[in-house]
Amino acid sequence: MHPDLEKMIVLQGLDVEARRLAEEMAALPKRVAQLDAELQAAKKELAAIAESLAKEETLRRRQELDIKDHHQKAARLRKQMDVVTTTAQATALEHEITFAETEVSRLEDAELESMERTEQLEAKKIAAEETVANFARRHAEAAASTTAALERNGALLAEVEAKRAELRPQIGENALSMYDRIAKSRGTALSEGVDQKCSACQMLVRPQRWNDLRERSNDETMFTCESCGRLLYWDPARDAPQKKQAQKEESIAASIVKASL
Ligand SMILES: [Zn+2]
Repeated sequence: MHPDLEKMIVLQGLDVEARRLAEEMAALPKRVAQLDAELQAAKKELAAIAESLAKEETLRRRQELDIKDHHQKAARLRKQMDVVTTTAQATALEHEITFAETEVSRLEDAELESMERTEQLEAKKIAAEETVANFARRHAEAAASTTAALERNGALLAEVEAKRAELRPQIGENALSMYDRIAKSRGTALSEGVDQKCSACQMLVRPQRWNDLRERSNDETMFTCESCGRLLYWDPARDAPQKKQAQKEESIAASIVKASL
């Protein structure tokens, strides 16, 4: 194998690892932000319930005052009944008393309805408080673990970067610029040839090219995948199953030849 290619295989491993760490680090605060958004939404919901509860309280206080007023008015009108002199006056007073009493019973019904709503709101408030506590706990946990993970990943990334910085100058200038160019457009610059296929794009490598790739003495040439343009490399240890299969076929062929002799 071309010596630069060997180093570039290591470099690609470092590049992929550096990218993974960086992506993970970028994703971590997003999770915390998501949980924070959910916490804020839950808090808003709780505040809305509390506001509705306060409105019901205010409404009932006003209803109670109105009830009191109507009671007092009815009592005053009844006293007036003692001193009326005409039937017309009595009828008018009775009419007013009936109206005040009807208002009292209407307001009492409305007050009961408000109390029922309050009961439902209280239940909702308990559930909303649990939700807020839940999100607050999850958010705090995520924030703490994110801080730890960011520190850990940061240290790992620094190690990988140091190794990259050490390795890159050891690679030939042309090979390295080719590596960077392909990596920039394809994400990765190298692809392992396995089972006569480019493992990155899965396209078959033509037999002659495959043989050239496997030809160990051909150290000076680097092969690219004709389909995706990545630099191909071949690892005999990794492609062993096929090799074994080939050996098996050879030995079968040999035994057939032997048998026919
Ligand atoms: Zn390919």
